[in-house]
Amino acid sequence: MNIILLGPPGAGKGTQAQILVEARGMTQLSTGDMLREAKDSGTEMGQIVADVMARGDLVTDDIVIGLIREKLASDSGAGFIFDGFPRTLAQADALADLLSDVGQTLDAVIEMRVDDEALVKRITARSTCGGCGAVYNDITKPWPEDGKCANCGSTEVKRRSDDNEDSLKQRLMEYYKKTSPLIGYYHAKGTLKSIDGLGEIDEVKARITGALDG
Ligand code: AMP
Repeated sequence: MNIILLGPPGAGKGTQAQILVEARGMTQLSTGDMLREAKDSGTEMGQIVADVMARGDLVTDDIVIGLIREKLASDSGAGFIFDGFPRTLAQADALADLLSDVGQTLDAVIEMRVDDEALVKRITARSTCGGCGAVYNDITKPWPEDGKCANCGSTEVKRRSDDNEDSLKQRLMEYYKKTSPLIGYYHAKGTLKSIDGLGEIDEVKARITGALDG
């Protein structure tokens, strides 16, 4: 089963993707994580995208489509979860072609709906583990009191440099201008399932399970 998690920054795509990886053995493909990796390791592409990401703008379609193309050649386990991709109509068309090239289809697009006020609160509270990438939130899922990641034991707390108010405003603007048209696109294709992304992590997980298996 190949699925897309679609939603604005802070909707909980990464958190729910990690849950699906653990529960179903699926493979998470996050273009944001891939781009951050390229940036941190100082590759030529990483240097090109660093400023774009810091501003909260979208990286060019060619770059992210290239990243996904490379990954689709690898084993998908129980299927791919596309997290943060596609973000434009051109990327959505490219994904359909890439999947068909490897004899696969897109089974579902889960739209995670969260209002803007909640997004800002979530994003300014979020952190990830430097060791394993597990997602934490100062309010809903704080770091364990012993200071060690519950998943891998690392003590490195990371906060994203683009999780600040200016960049977030721009990321939201990009979402509404360029990514939200994908909701209509996938609705027309008959693959869209919309769920309420507000609430406890387990509640949202149950809604996604219902949308996928129901
Ligand atoms: P994310 O971790 O998904 O919030 O992505 C962080 C940043 O990476 C975004 O604000 C964009 O600058 C860039 N990015 C990630 N995925 C894409 C994509 N599919 N298309 C264009 N830019 C992307």
